[in-house]
Formats: sequence, structure tokens, C-alpha cells
Amino acid sequence: MKKLLFGTAGIPDSAKRKTTEAGIERIRELKLDCMEIEFVKGVKMSEQTARKVREIAEKHSVKLTVHAPYWINLNSQDKRVLKNSKMYIINSAIIGSICGARDICFHPAYYQKNDPKKVYKKVKKEIISIKKEIENLQIDVILRPETMGKHSQFGSFEELILLSQEIEGIEPTVDFAHLYARSLGEINNYDRFCEIIEKYEQALGKKALERMQIHISGMKYGENGEIKHLEFKESKFKYRDCIKALKDYNVQGFLICESPILEKDAILIKKVYEKL
Ligand SMILES: [Zn+2]
Repeated sequence: MKKLLFGTAGIPDSAKRKTTEAGIERIRELKLDCMEIEFVKGVKMSEQTARKVREIAEKHSVKLTVHAPYWINLNSQDKRVLKNSKMYIINSAIIGSICGARDICFHPAYYQKNDPKKVYKKVKKEIISIKKEIENLQIDVILRPETMGKHSQFGSFEELILLSQEIEGIEPTVDFAHLYARSLGEINNYDRFCEIIEKYEQALGKKALERMQIHISGMKYGENGEIKHLEFKESKFKYRDCIKALKDYNVQGFLICESPILEKDAILIKKVYEKL
């Protein structure tokens, strides 16, 4: 893949049916390039459907990525919650890879008033164990912990860069709207976006820059970070600066739009990018 692909977080609103298959067909009609399969409320897709999804995606040359369920907390003290959290990531990888997706994004954990350094160690240990299980299953995926927008959530840019340097085969999903919210509006101009991309490349290498999984949307934040996703035009998030930085650094991979007006905003940023 030598390109930045534009797509939606989930099935476009204008798809004929609320199925992954109809979503892929709609992505093609809209001249977008990719779609993130949202397993956010559970991995409910059968292997049989996943094979069908792969066939349709290949037919239409639409690339796919995966978002694992929301209820993941690799820092949970509750054994059952921890076990389920690991299972959600593993099942997302199993079904996602049958769909032909390679990038599996997940929200790693909550601090729950624990020392962030301790949480880091715990999350690292659990991701290593998940990675071993996935290797045993011989599934070729990149597990991608996502940069998170709330201060209660583990997943600062620095934490995830370090995690990715320390565990082979782990790379972050970079959500620029989350970075903006977490930094309380600090990371919101061309230079700051470039700085993020440069740090990413320095830490993980040029190849990693050519296969990024990025989330983007408008964003409302408060004193504790993220409040909610907004349309680009309703938010102070400087999406044009962000798109320009991605283009200037020739970032490649997936740019997934998480705006409430999914495909409309995905098309908007694709046009902005193409006009630069
Ligand atoms: Zn996410």
C-alpha cells in the first residue's frame, strides 16, 4: 500500500443496508478507499460472513481495518473482566483477519487511580500475552492500542510509542482528535501535528509511517479531555492543518473518519487532501 486511504468508521449512513457488505459497496460508490469494521459492541460476525466480507472487499478493492470492542480494560483487577478484554482483542484479530484486515485497533485500559507507571507495566504484560496467543494461531495482524482522549484512559502518545518500541509488532493507532482533546487543545496546529508524525517516525521507523492507522474527527473537550466527537466544521480542531501535515510527510495507510456525519466528512477531508 503506497497511499493514504480514506474511509469511514463503520458502515456509511447512506448504505442500502446496515451490513458490512452493503457498507463496502457504498464506500466504493462514494469513491472512498477503506472502511473500519466496528466490532465496538462485540465481535458478532460469523466466520462465514467474514469470508463473504473479504470476497466483496477484494471485488471492490476496498481495504478494511478493525476496531475491537469498547469494553476492554487490560488494567482490570477483576479476573473475569481481564479475561474478556483479552478475548475481545483476540476474537477481533481472528474474525478481522478472515475479513482480510490486518490492523486491529483497541482502547487499552483505564488508570483507575493507579500509578501510570504501574499501569504501563500491567498493560505491557497483558499485550505480550495476547500477542503470544495470536502468534500461536498464526494470524498476521498488527495490534494497535489507540491514543485516547480522556485523562482517565491509559494511552497517551508517549505511552503508546514506548509500548510499540518495547513490543515487536505493536504499533499505535493515532487518533489526532484524541491528542487534541487530551492536550486540552495544545496539539492543534501544523507544527504540532508535524511534531507527532516526526516522533512516530523516529521511534518506529519509516516503514511504520507507510502503514499508519489514523482516526480523525471534530472534537469537543473539557478539563478532563474528550467529551464528544463533532463534525469538522463544528469543532475548533484544525483538521486542514492535520491533513496538510499528513500529506507533507507522505504518511500512508488508513485515515478513518469518526465524525458523526461519517461519509460526508470523510469525503470532505479526502477532497482537502487531493487539493493540497
Ligand atoms: Zn477508538
